[in-house]
Amino acid sequence: SKVLVTGANGYLATWVVKKYLEAGYSVRGTVRSLSKSAFLNDKFSDYGDRFELVVVEDITKDGAFDEAVKGVDAIAHTASPFHFRVTKPDDLIIPAVQGTTSILNSALKHGSNVKRVILTSSIVAVYEQTEVPRVFTESNWNNAAVEAVKTKGSAADPFTIYQASKTLAEKAAWEFVAAHSSEIPWDLVAINPPWIWGPSLSPAPTLDDINTSQREIYDTLTGARTNAQLQGEGSWVHVAVVAEAHVRATHAVDASGQRIIVTSSSFFYQDLLDLAAELGIANVARGEPGSTKGIPFVINVETKKAEELLGLTPATPLKDVLAESVDDFKRRGYPGF
Ligand code: NDP
Repeated sequence: SKVLVTGANGYLATWVVKKYLEAGYSVRGTVRSLSKSAFLNDKFSDYGDRFELVVVEDITKDGAFDEAVKGVDAIAHTASPFHFRVTKPDDLIIPAVQGTTSILNSALKHGSNVKRVILTSSIVAVYEQTEVPRVFTESNWNNAAVEAVKTKGSAADPFTIYQASKTLAEKAAWEFVAAHSSEIPWDLVAINPPWIWGPSLSPAPTLDDINTSQREIYDTLTGARTNAQLQGEGSWVHVAVVAEAHVRATHAVDASGQRIIVTSSSFFYQDLLDLAAELGIANVARGEPGSTKGIPFVINVETKKAEELLGLTPATPLKDVLAESVDDFKRRGYPGF
């Protein structure tokens, strides 16, 4: 089987490509720039013609993927902007939503072999900010972010804009499938991960090229967070697990039409500093050691579906992924490590 992976040079996508190839699939990756993505040809050269790259310059254009979808059996759509350098909501929302509808339209028109589309969504399309502890499941939607962006426009903070972009993109995908159900021979699966951590397979030589989720660890360890921010919480999952989730979602029959949260555990930002201290990592920020011990998390998520439908029970300890990340920063010569 052949699978189309969009944004193949991205942090997650590189792992997705690797896992598909290891599982025996052929992969066609789309990228915006071949020169920036040359490392992929080196990395996957052992797979010969089972791996190829094609250029799709503007994913928002109608018909952008018409050629790319021809002959593939499945599509993993990962390309979507994940950064906070935004001046207005459309900077993220247009490529997220139109990139999604554009590839689905191409699959509708030219993807006669396509049986399944896997959309890389996010946990931010699921949970909403809350003051009281809540447990979120795949039936929840982050409508609050969409509303906030509608009300505040360009004054909305970039993270909220990102949340709205992922929520609107995933909704657009489900709406597309509902509207075209009688015409399409394929179904949809959405994967909803939290912060994705673990080593990058790309050379990413400078700190400017680091992706947003790895930057989250780097900034925390190098002291960019106030003590108040360190009391904030989040959840995370290993990049290899999310990539494996995409592969399993491609052939797991029961995954059809499902959103699937794939997460490992929750954390406080202070926990990262405390674990770094335990690991003996030099020069990292210390914050207020131990100050988050025993505090319950406000945002909790259900993980049953990933286990039932994909057989995934991501259990890597946070300490391990932290050590892996720091090794990766050292390898790349990032300042501070
Ligand atoms: P990266 O920034 O490493 O990769 C993003 C990919 O999308 C790149 O190939 C990039 O191309 C492409 N892309 C971004 N904007 C555009 C655009 N306007 N037009 C065309 N292509 C574009 O991100 P990640 O690997 O971290 O994220 C991949 C996916 O996973 C995204 O959909 C993201 O929302 C989702 N996700 C990520 C999480 C994380 O913690 N990393 C958590 C949950 C979901 P180029 O290199 O040319 O810019």
